[in-house]
Amino acid sequence: LALQPRRGGPKNLPIAEVFIDDDVTKSKPRLVILGGGWGGVALLKELNPDDYNVTVISPANYFLFTPMLPSATVGTLELRSLVEPIRRIISRVHGHFIRARAEDVEFSEKLVEVSQLDHKGKEVRFYVPYDKLVVAVGSSTNPHGVKGLENAFFLKDINDARMIRNKVIQNLELACLPTTSDDERKRLLSFVVSGGGPTGVEFAAELFDLLNEDLTRHFPRLLRNEISVHIIQSRGHILNTYDETVSKYAEERFNRDQIEVLTNSRVKEVQPDKIIFSQKQEDGSVITKELPIGFCLWSTGVSPTSLSQKLAKKLGSVQTNRHALETDTHLRLNGAPLGDVYAIGDCSTVQNNVAESIVTFLRNLAWKRGIEPEKLQLHFSDWRQVAQDVKKRFPQAINHLKRLDKLFFEFDKDQSGTLDFGELRELLNQIDSKLTSLPATAQRAHQQGCYLAHKFNKMARISDAMLANDIRDGDLDAAIYKAFEYRHLGSLAYIGNSAVFDLGEGWSMAGGLWAVYAWRSVYFAQSVSFRTRSLMAMDWMKRGLFGRDLVA
Ligand code: FAD
Ligand code: MG
Ligand code: MG
Ligand code: MG
Ligand code: MG
Repeated sequence: LALQPRRGGPKNLPIAEVFIDDDVTKSKPRLVILGGGWGGVALLKELNPDDYNVTVISPANYFLFTPMLPSATVGTLELRSLVEPIRRIISRVHGHFIRARAEDVEFSEKLVEVSQLDHKGKEVRFYVPYDKLVVAVGSSTNPHGVKGLENAFFLKDINDARMIRNKVIQNLELACLPTTSDDERKRLLSFVVSGGGPTGVEFAAELFDLLNEDLTRHFPRLLRNEISVHIIQSRGHILNTYDETVSKYAEERFNRDQIEVLTNSRVKEVQPDKIIFSQKQEDGSVITKELPIGFCLWSTGVSPTSLSQKLAKKLGSVQTNRHALETDTHLRLNGAPLGDVYAIGDCSTVQNNVAESIVTFLRNLAWKRGIEPEKLQLHFSDWRQVAQDVKKRFPQAINHLKRLDKLFFEFDKDQSGTLDFGELRELLNQIDSKLTSLPATAQRAHQQGCYLAHKFNKMARISDAMLANDIRDGDLDAAIYKAFEYRHLGSLAYIGNSAVFDLGEGWSMAGGLWAVYAWRSVYFAQSVSFRTRSLMAMDWMKRGLFGRDLVA
């Protein structure tokens, strides 16, 4: 049993073969998954138990149910209820778990370089060999180059939620001290959320619920009008990626609840006791403003992790997207040896060349009309046809399609009712940048994880027969399995005891209490296990009966 791992690879590090290949599994392909979040776990849940020798590498040994994280920050839910041990999930496929961070990938030698701190706090590094690798490492918070973010809180992980919860409670307690001045109390009770996307909006709503429901009961000394909640949003509206009705509903709701929404505002700096931002006025001028803060949440979108950045750089010019690792429609990482490496979830995007396909369509149209493409004048009805074609071929673009109609009029600069070549070119540029990105959602990561699992299951069954049929060097992925298609099932955002739904394609609903239950049941159904579901149900029941636990 005292086998020493062989060393090798470009850095001559130990190779974790002995650990990973026990006799029983030796003949199976080694499937290594980086990350135990939505993408990785969906894959694990759908994979046939005995086809692969599975290893998951992740610095977190739990799966985190992110959609409920905003609730956990204010004690509506227990933090424990939102996590599920990876080792429990992995046992179904008899896999291995390595609690460590992937640092790099040697594509030609099929090795993942991994790091972890040992018991003395010293960094150890080793390689994990793979036959198939799935990169599902998620994303990190986008700092947008703003100064003073050490004074802000983030909401990505369970520890973030814990820190936020402690801070909120600490501020409430400090505000109650008899020695606290009026100004200081106002500052302590000024909660600012930077970012009007779903996370920021849900957090603001949860916080407001807490302040309204529990505060008057447990902190009778605090006056409701001393508390303020503000959302700072760079765009003209909050939830601006959602349908207009949803966005409007949320704003009206917040307006009624006295949550201040500051739109067209950019944060410049976060200081320990105030936030400085610039706001664009209606006349186009920009003025600088500031707000005292007792607490600031930073949630202004996502950016690639350091691993993603490193891999993109390594793969060179085929990786052109600054925001994510690009894959082909079979989710294979562009630039890596075909069929070895896949990328799913927030860290990735599917390259689909929408604009290229539209250009082809236009060439055909010009040809049919017997004119040069440069002479083409596109009417709205032609444009609708183009949109139909895009929709059929790129179902993952569906989320953006409701805007395609609007784009026609937006880009018809001379308002002639037709688009000429120049106007079309401008429009295609915009489409290219917009339609090639998939949303960074649990929904998408989940769909991609399931897609890969089903494909891998099929590969394990079929590959011998296929190999016998001489498809050895062919494109196995494309030969045996369809391309990935994203299905937009609607977005959901929680705003203060009511939920707003955006079901895509112009369907949306916004409502009162019934919506809360609908919202909860959707997340119940999506929730990973009966254990998690039971824990959350108990939390909600407890909160209903006793209110939130405000201890830290
Ligand atoms: P993640 O789920 O983030 O998982 C990444 C995994 O990789 C983690 O286990 C991480 O520890 C691990 N990892 C990171 N770096 C490395 C490394 N170098 N090596 C190995 N492992 C690594 N989406 C929705 O659809 N609906 C919602 O309501 C919703 N609400 C949200 C609320 C909050 C507060 C947040 C933060 C996100 C929310 N999202 C929601 C977005 C959703 O969580 C993400 O889109 C989803 O988690 C993406 O899945 P993923 O597998 O790509 O990444
Ligand atoms: Mg994942
Ligand atoms: Mg996660
Ligand atoms: Mg990912
Ligand atoms: Mg025109």
